[in-house]
Amino acid sequence: MSELISGKVISKKINDKLRKEVKELKLNGIEPCLAVILVGEDPASEVYVRNKKRTCEEIGIRSIGHDFPASTSQKDLEELVKTLNNDNTVHGILCQFPLPKDLDENKIILTISPEKDVDGLHPLNAGLIAMGNPKFISCTPFGVLQMLKQSGINTSGKNTVVLGRSNLVGRPIATLLSSKGWDATVTVCHSRTSNLSEVTSQADILIAAIGIPEFVNTEMVKQGAVVIDVGINRKNDPSKLKGSKLVGDVAFEEVKFKTSYITPVPGGVGPMTIAMLMANTVNAARWQNGLDGLDL
Ligand code: NAD
Repeated sequence: MSELISGKVISKKINDKLRKEVKELKLNGIEPCLAVILVGEDPASEVYVRNKKRTCEEIGIRSIGHDFPASTSQKDLEELVKTLNNDNTVHGILCQFPLPKDLDENKIILTISPEKDVDGLHPLNAGLIAMGNPKFISCTPFGVLQMLKQSGINTSGKNTVVLGRSNLVGRPIATLLSSKGWDATVTVCHSRTSNLSEVTSQADILIAAIGIPEFVNTEMVKQGAVVIDVGINRKNDPSKLKGSKLVGDVAFEEVKFKTSYITPVPGGVGPMTIAMLMANTVNAARWQNGLDGLDL
Protein backbone atom coordinates (compact mmCIF):
# COMPACT_ATOMS: atom_id res chain seq x y z
CA MET A 1 0.00 0.00 0.00
CA SER A 2 1.42 3.37 -1.02
CA GLU A 3 1.94 6.05 1.60
CA LEU A 4 1.16 9.68 0.79
CA ILE A 5 3.87 12.23 1.61
CA SER A 6 1.84 15.32 2.44
CA GLY A 7 3.58 18.64 1.82
CA LYS A 8 0.72 20.29 3.70
CA VAL A 9 1.45 18.33 6.88
CA ILE A 10 5.26 18.58 6.68
CA SER A 11 5.26 22.29 5.79
CA LYS A 12 2.91 23.01 8.70
CA LYS A 13 5.30 21.24 11.06
CA ILE A 14 8.22 23.29 9.71
CA ASN A 15 6.25 26.55 9.88
CA ASP A 16 5.26 25.81 13.50
CA LYS A 17 8.90 25.26 14.38
CA LEU A 18 9.89 28.50 12.59
CA ARG A 19 7.18 30.45 14.44
CA LYS A 20 8.69 29.40 17.79
CA GLU A 21 12.18 30.19 16.54
CA VAL A 22 11.15 33.68 15.36
CA LYS A 23 9.58 34.38 18.75
CA GLU A 24 12.86 33.42 20.39
CA LEU A 25 14.90 35.58 17.99
CA LYS A 26 12.65 38.57 18.65
CA LEU A 27 13.21 38.18 22.40
CA ASN A 28 16.89 38.58 21.58
CA GLY A 29 16.27 41.73 19.54
CA ILE A 30 16.42 40.08 16.09
CA GLU A 31 13.37 40.48 13.82
CA PRO A 32 13.77 38.36 10.66
CA CYS A 33 12.77 40.44 7.65
CA LEU A 34 12.15 39.50 4.01
CA ALA A 35 12.01 42.08 1.21
CA VAL A 36 9.74 40.93 -1.61
CA ILE A 37 10.07 42.60 -5.03
CA LEU A 38 7.27 42.29 -7.55
CA VAL A 39 7.50 43.88 -11.00
CA GLY A 40 4.47 44.07 -13.29
CA GLU A 41 1.05 42.48 -12.96
CA ASP A 42 1.48 38.80 -13.78
CA PRO A 43 -1.53 37.22 -12.01
CA ALA A 44 0.31 34.01 -11.01
CA SER A 45 3.21 36.04 -9.58
CA GLU A 46 0.76 38.21 -7.64
CA VAL A 47 -0.76 35.08 -6.08
CA TYR A 48 2.68 33.63 -5.20
CA VAL A 49 3.80 36.93 -3.62
CA ARG A 50 0.55 37.24 -1.65
CA ASN A 51 0.98 33.68 -0.30
CA LYS A 52 4.61 34.31 0.64
CA LYS A 53 3.74 37.53 2.51
CA ARG A 54 0.81 35.84 4.27
CA THR A 55 3.03 32.97 5.44
CA CYS A 56 5.63 35.52 6.69
CA GLU A 57 2.86 37.13 8.73
CA GLU A 58 1.71 33.76 10.15
CA ILE A 59 5.26 32.96 11.28
CA GLY A 60 6.09 36.44 12.60
CA ILE A 61 8.60 37.36 9.89
CA ARG A 62 8.41 41.02 8.83
CA SER A 63 7.84 41.30 5.09
CA ILE A 64 8.34 44.48 3.09
CA GLY A 65 6.69 44.61 -0.32
CA HIS A 66 8.28 46.57 -3.18
CA ASP A 67 5.78 46.64 -6.04
CA PHE A 68 6.79 48.21 -9.35
CA PRO A 69 5.13 48.73 -12.73
CA ALA A 70 6.25 46.58 -15.68
CA SER A 71 7.88 49.69 -17.18
CA THR A 72 10.51 49.81 -14.38
CA SER A 73 14.09 50.06 -15.68
CA GLN A 74 16.83 47.52 -15.03
CA LYS A 75 18.89 50.27 -13.41
CA ASP A 76 16.15 51.26 -10.93
CA LEU A 77 15.59 47.64 -9.99
CA GLU A 78 19.29 47.02 -9.43
CA GLU A 79 19.51 50.22 -7.36
CA LEU A 80 16.70 48.96 -5.12
CA VAL A 81 18.45 45.60 -4.66
CA LYS A 82 21.71 47.38 -3.74
CA THR A 83 19.86 49.55 -1.19
CA LEU A 84 18.32 46.40 0.34
CA ASN A 85 21.75 44.70 0.35
CA ASN A 86 23.03 47.58 2.52
CA ASP A 87 20.01 47.67 4.86
CA ASN A 88 20.93 45.77 8.03
CA THR A 89 17.29 45.36 9.03
CA VAL A 90 16.59 43.31 5.86
CA HIS A 91 17.86 39.72 6.03
CA GLY A 92 16.46 38.18 2.85
CA ILE A 93 15.72 39.55 -0.64
CA LEU A 94 13.35 37.84 -3.01
CA CYS A 95 12.63 39.08 -6.52
CA GLN A 96 9.59 37.27 -7.94
CA PHE A 97 10.30 35.75 -11.38
CA PRO A 98 9.50 35.83 -14.24
CA LEU A 99 10.32 39.49 -14.70
CA PRO A 100 8.77 41.42 -17.62
CA LYS A 101 10.67 40.50 -20.80
CA ASP A 102 12.79 43.66 -21.04
CA LEU A 103 14.41 43.00 -17.66
CA ASP A 104 17.41 40.73 -17.15
CA GLU A 105 16.77 38.17 -14.37
CA ASN A 106 20.36 36.93 -14.31
CA LYS A 107 21.68 40.43 -13.60
CA ILE A 108 19.25 40.77 -10.70
CA ILE A 109 20.36 37.38 -9.31
CA LEU A 110 23.97 38.56 -9.49
CA THR A 111 23.12 41.87 -7.78
CA ILE A 112 21.46 40.26 -4.74
CA SER A 113 24.02 39.76 -1.97
CA PRO A 114 24.74 36.01 -1.60
CA GLU A 115 24.23 36.56 2.17
CA LYS A 116 20.61 37.62 1.52
CA ASP A 117 19.90 35.23 -1.38
CA VAL A 118 17.00 33.36 0.28
CA ASP A 119 15.91 31.97 -3.12
CA GLY A 120 19.33 30.29 -3.39
CA LEU A 121 19.82 31.34 -7.02
CA HIS A 122 23.13 33.25 -6.82
CA PRO A 123 26.03 31.37 -8.49
CA LEU A 124 27.94 31.47 -5.20
CA ASN A 125 25.17 29.53 -3.46
CA ALA A 126 24.81 27.16 -6.44
CA GLY A 127 28.59 26.69 -6.29
CA LEU A 128 28.50 25.87 -2.57
CA ILE A 129 25.89 23.18 -3.33
CA ALA A 130 28.15 21.76 -6.06
CA MET A 131 31.08 21.69 -3.60
CA GLY A 132 29.01 19.75 -1.04
CA ASN A 133 28.92 22.63 1.42
CA PRO A 134 25.49 24.23 0.88
CA LYS A 135 24.37 27.46 2.55
CA PHE A 136 21.17 28.78 0.94
CA ILE A 137 19.48 25.94 -0.96
CA SER A 138 16.86 27.02 -3.51
CA CYS A 139 13.44 26.55 -1.97
CA THR A 140 11.95 23.75 -4.10
CA PRO A 141 15.01 21.43 -3.94
CA PHE A 142 15.24 22.19 -0.19
CA GLY A 143 11.57 21.22 0.13
CA VAL A 144 12.13 17.92 -1.69
CA LEU A 145 15.03 17.07 0.66
CA GLN A 146 12.88 17.82 3.69
CA MET A 147 10.05 15.64 2.40
CA LEU A 148 12.44 12.71 2.05
CA LYS A 149 14.09 13.35 5.42
CA GLN A 150 10.91 13.90 7.42
CA SER A 151 9.29 10.83 5.86
CA GLY A 152 12.24 8.74 7.05
CA ILE A 153 13.27 7.74 3.52
CA ASN A 154 16.85 6.51 3.39
CA THR A 155 18.59 7.80 0.25
CA SER A 156 22.02 6.28 0.89
CA GLY A 157 23.10 4.05 -2.01
CA LYS A 158 19.61 4.30 -3.54
CA ASN A 159 19.30 4.34 -7.29
CA THR A 160 17.78 7.79 -7.80
CA VAL A 161 16.59 9.25 -11.09
CA VAL A 162 15.90 12.98 -11.47
CA LEU A 163 13.78 13.90 -14.48
CA GLY A 164 14.72 17.46 -15.51
CA ARG A 165 17.97 19.43 -15.35
CA SER A 166 16.85 23.03 -14.75
CA ASN A 167 19.02 25.30 -12.59
CA LEU A 168 15.99 25.98 -10.41
CA VAL A 169 14.93 22.40 -9.66
CA GLY A 170 16.39 19.32 -11.36
CA ARG A 171 20.10 20.14 -11.26
CA PRO A 172 20.33 21.23 -7.59
CA ILE A 173 18.20 18.25 -6.47
CA ALA A 174 20.49 15.85 -8.32
CA THR A 175 23.65 17.52 -6.95
CA LEU A 176 22.37 17.58 -3.38
CA LEU A 177 21.18 13.96 -3.36
CA SER A 178 24.53 12.74 -4.71
CA SER A 179 26.47 14.67 -2.06
CA LYS A 180 27.83 13.34 1.25
CA GLY A 181 25.11 12.74 3.81
CA TRP A 182 22.42 11.97 1.21
CA ASP A 183 24.69 9.53 -0.68
CA ALA A 184 22.26 8.56 -3.43
CA THR A 185 23.48 7.21 -6.78
CA VAL A 186 21.92 9.77 -9.09
CA THR A 187 21.06 9.73 -12.79
CA VAL A 188 19.83 12.95 -14.42
CA CYS A 189 17.43 12.57 -17.34
CA HIS A 190 16.33 15.32 -19.72
CA SER A 191 14.59 15.95 -23.02
CA ARG A 192 17.42 14.23 -24.98
CA THR A 193 17.65 11.11 -22.82
CA SER A 194 17.14 7.93 -24.85
CA ASN A 195 15.30 4.91 -23.46
CA LEU A 196 13.82 7.08 -20.72
CA SER A 197 11.42 4.40 -19.42
CA GLU A 198 14.27 1.91 -19.13
CA VAL A 199 16.19 4.35 -16.93
CA THR A 200 13.29 5.54 -14.78
CA SER A 201 11.97 2.03 -14.17
CA GLN A 202 15.26 1.16 -12.40
CA ALA A 203 14.81 3.98 -9.89
CA ASP A 204 14.30 3.33 -6.18
CA ILE A 205 13.59 7.07 -5.91
CA LEU A 206 12.13 8.94 -8.88
CA ILE A 207 11.87 12.74 -8.87
CA ALA A 208 9.88 14.32 -11.69
CA ALA A 209 10.51 17.99 -12.55
CA ILE A 210 9.82 18.44 -16.26
CA GLY A 211 6.60 20.45 -16.54
CA ILE A 212 4.61 17.97 -18.68
CA PRO A 213 1.20 17.04 -17.21
CA GLU A 214 0.98 13.41 -16.04
CA PHE A 215 4.00 12.39 -18.13
CA VAL A 216 5.25 9.64 -15.80
CA ASN A 217 3.08 6.55 -16.18
CA THR A 218 3.05 3.13 -14.51
CA GLU A 219 5.47 1.54 -17.00
CA MET A 220 8.08 4.14 -16.08
CA VAL A 221 7.99 3.33 -12.36
CA LYS A 222 9.59 0.44 -10.46
CA GLN A 223 7.39 -1.52 -8.07
CA GLY A 224 7.80 -0.04 -4.57
CA ALA A 225 9.56 3.14 -5.73
CA VAL A 226 9.41 6.48 -3.92
CA VAL A 227 7.98 9.07 -6.33
CA ILE A 228 8.33 12.83 -5.72
CA ASP A 229 6.30 14.97 -8.13
CA VAL A 230 7.60 18.54 -8.45
CA GLY A 231 5.48 19.43 -11.49
CA ILE A 232 2.67 21.95 -11.30
CA ASN A 233 0.64 22.00 -14.51
CA ARG A 234 -2.83 23.15 -15.42
CA LYS A 235 -5.00 20.60 -17.26
CA ASN A 236 -8.43 21.15 -18.82
CA ASP A 237 -11.25 19.70 -16.73
CA PRO A 238 -14.77 20.74 -17.73
CA SER A 239 -16.13 19.26 -14.48
CA LYS A 240 -14.35 22.02 -12.51
CA LEU A 241 -15.78 25.50 -12.03
CA LYS A 242 -12.60 27.06 -13.46
CA GLY A 243 -12.61 24.59 -16.39
CA SER A 244 -9.22 23.24 -15.35
CA LYS A 245 -7.33 21.62 -12.49
CA LEU A 246 -3.75 21.35 -11.24
CA VAL A 247 -1.86 18.14 -11.98
CA GLY A 248 1.74 17.10 -11.53
CA ASP A 249 4.26 15.51 -13.91
CA VAL A 250 3.13 12.08 -12.64
CA ALA A 251 -0.11 10.28 -13.56
CA PHE A 252 -0.91 10.05 -9.85
CA GLU A 253 -4.09 7.96 -10.02
CA GLU A 254 -2.40 5.05 -11.82
CA VAL A 255 1.16 5.37 -10.49
CA LYS A 256 0.14 5.45 -6.80
CA PHE A 257 -0.68 1.72 -6.87
CA LYS A 258 2.92 0.87 -7.69
CA THR A 259 4.78 3.14 -5.25
CA SER A 260 5.83 2.83 -1.61
CA TYR A 261 5.63 6.61 -1.14
CA ILE A 262 4.23 9.29 -3.43
CA THR A 263 3.58 13.06 -3.24
CA PRO A 264 0.25 14.50 -4.42
CA VAL A 265 -0.36 17.62 -6.56
CA PRO A 266 -1.63 19.93 -5.20
CA GLY A 267 -0.59 19.62 -1.55
CA GLY A 268 2.83 18.08 -2.20
CA VAL A 269 6.03 19.91 -3.08
CA GLY A 270 4.14 23.24 -3.59
CA PRO A 271 3.54 24.11 0.10
CA MET A 272 7.07 22.95 0.95
CA THR A 273 8.57 25.59 -1.35
CA ILE A 274 7.10 28.48 0.67
CA ALA A 275 8.02 26.84 4.00
CA MET A 276 11.64 26.56 2.86
CA LEU A 277 11.67 30.23 1.83
CA MET A 278 10.64 31.00 5.39
CA ALA A 279 13.37 28.69 6.73
CA ASN A 280 15.96 30.39 4.52
CA THR A 281 14.83 33.82 5.78
CA VAL A 282 15.09 32.75 9.43
CA ASN A 283 18.52 31.24 8.74
CA ALA A 284 19.59 34.45 6.96
CA ALA A 285 18.70 36.41 10.11
CA ARG A 286 20.57 33.89 12.27
CA TRP A 287 23.70 33.81 10.08
CA GLN A 288 23.80 37.61 9.81
CA ASN A 289 23.76 37.74 13.62
CA GLY A 290 26.56 35.21 14.09
CA LEU A 291 24.29 32.26 14.96
CA ASP A 292 24.27 28.74 13.44
CA GLY A 293 21.64 27.67 10.92
CA LEU A 294 18.59 25.74 12.15
CA ASP A 295 18.43 21.97 12.18
CA LEU A 296 14.98 21.35 10.69
P1 NAD B 1 12.08 23.83 -16.93
O1 NAD B 1 11.18 23.97 -18.10
O2 NAD B 1 13.08 24.88 -16.64
O3 NAD B 1 12.87 22.46 -17.06
C1 NAD B 1 12.26 21.28 -17.50
C2 NAD B 1 13.30 20.18 -17.62
O4 NAD B 1 12.62 19.01 -18.02
C3 NAD B 1 14.39 20.46 -18.63
O5 NAD B 1 15.64 20.19 -18.03
C4 NAD B 1 14.12 19.47 -19.76
O6 NAD B 1 15.32 18.94 -20.33
C5 NAD B 1 13.36 18.38 -19.07
N1 NAD B 1 12.41 17.75 -19.96
C6 NAD B 1 11.50 18.33 -20.77
N2 NAD B 1 10.83 17.40 -21.49
C7 NAD B 1 11.32 16.21 -21.12
C8 NAD B 1 11.05 14.87 -21.50
N3 NAD B 1 10.12 14.59 -22.41
N4 NAD B 1 11.73 13.89 -20.91
C9 NAD B 1 12.67 14.16 -19.99
N5 NAD B 1 12.98 15.40 -19.58
C10 NAD B 1 12.32 16.42 -20.13
O7 NAD B 1 11.11 23.60 -15.68
P2 NAD B 1 11.38 23.74 -14.10
O8 NAD B 1 11.46 25.17 -13.72
O9 NAD B 1 12.49 22.83 -13.70
O10 NAD B 1 10.00 23.16 -13.54
C11 NAD B 1 9.61 21.84 -13.76
C12 NAD B 1 8.21 21.63 -13.22
O11 NAD B 1 8.23 21.89 -11.81
C13 NAD B 1 7.15 22.57 -13.79
O12 NAD B 1 5.92 21.89 -13.84
C14 NAD B 1 7.06 23.69 -12.76
O13 NAD B 1 5.80 24.31 -12.74
C15 NAD B 1 7.27 22.90 -11.51
N6 NAD B 1 7.79 23.68 -10.39
C16 NAD B 1 7.17 23.50 -9.19
C17 NAD B 1 7.60 24.17 -8.08
C18 NAD B 1 6.92 23.93 -6.78
O14 NAD B 1 6.96 24.76 -5.89
N7 NAD B 1 6.30 22.77 -6.61
C19 NAD B 1 8.66 25.08 -8.17
C20 NAD B 1 9.32 25.23 -9.40
C21 NAD B 1 8.87 24.52 -10.51
